[in-house]
Amino acid sequence: MMLWLCARSLRSCQVITTCIHLVITQAKKTLEREWLSEVSNIPLQQSVADLGVAYKNFFDSLKGKRKGKRLGSPKFKKKTNQQSARFRIGGFSIKGDEVYLAKIGNVKPIWSRVLPSAPTSVTVIKDCEDRYFLSFVVEIEPVQTDAKNQSLGIDLGIKTFAVMSNGEKAESPDYSKLDRKIRKLQKKLAGQPKGSKRRNKTRIQIAKLHNKIADTRKDFLHKLSTKVVSENQAIILEDLNVSGMVKNRKLARAISLQGWREFRTLCEAKSQKFGRVFHVISRWEPTSQICSECGYKWGKLGLKVRAVQCLNCGTEHDRDENAAKNINKVGTGHCHDSKRTQREGIATAKVVRTSTDDKT
Ligand SMILES: [Zn+2]
Repeated sequence: MMLWLCARSLRSCQVITTCIHLVITQAKKTLEREWLSEVSNIPLQQSVADLGVAYKNFFDSLKGKRKGKRLGSPKFKKKTNQQSARFRIGGFSIKGDEVYLAKIGNVKPIWSRVLPSAPTSVTVIKDCEDRYFLSFVVEIEPVQTDAKNQSLGIDLGIKTFAVMSNGEKAESPDYSKLDRKIRKLQKKLAGQPKGSKRRNKTRIQIAKLHNKIADTRKDFLHKLSTKVVSENQAIILEDLNVSGMVKNRKLARAISLQGWREFRTLCEAKSQKFGRVFHVISRWEPTSQICSECGYKWGKLGLKVRAVQCLNCGTEHDRDENAAKNINKVGTGHCHDSKRTQREGIATAKVVRTSTDDKT
């Protein structure tokens, strides 16, 4: 599209707004982009502005000005991928249960909830399955409710999605059946000629399955995060190196399906909404190497070790629950002074159970 062109001019041009208008006006004059006149200017301006931000982030990342992992350059958008158009104030209005969109007209959505305040923007999203959604940006006031408990530490894992410091566990829904179907269809897709009707049909089938997984996961994560945030005054998670872990190909599929990052984002947003403390502790905290009862440090445990007995105080621990308790302690500042009496490389805890004798 015209977006590459304008990003270059954006970088050299300080008067961004004028520049965006110019880029769009110029683009409309060409034959291939005539269709741009048929749609509202507002989403076009938004797209150009978004691209400007994407390029700024990309160049900042290249220069090392931006924290986090290296960003790739913005990519051209495919027509078959998800499409979106954002309307700012002036480009949309709400009358009753209808939404007016500039140059599109009135649409009547199925409302999932009542809007808590007047929205500042609306994004129209068309997903790969050709479903349309409206997403509104609204301001909300923090809700004041009392929490039952002071704090909760959460250990996120692959086998069990979340183990809490109060001993509760949350199992993630089983996506393996849908995932297997997707993999099968992806193999089928690879063998079908590009541009064929059959290939398009397979593509939509795959998109539908992906949506099903995403919807199930979203539902699960929303319910869990609401429960956790409403019941506890402080919520503590461990910072996981998700992008580093996804590089491990064996783990990648399981991890991306789990949605750890999504869970963290939800917890953070809901903590703000409910006036809770949300805390993320460093991933380098040795949360699985310390006894949460007495603070004794037994050292590294193999990944297969599921339960241990502390040789200092005799307490038997489930590995993940012990980690969750330590996450809670570190997050609330109630950390034991760990006794570094352990001998080099020798774990001073008795292994009670490993994952091979786990029959679940
Ligand atoms: Zn102990």
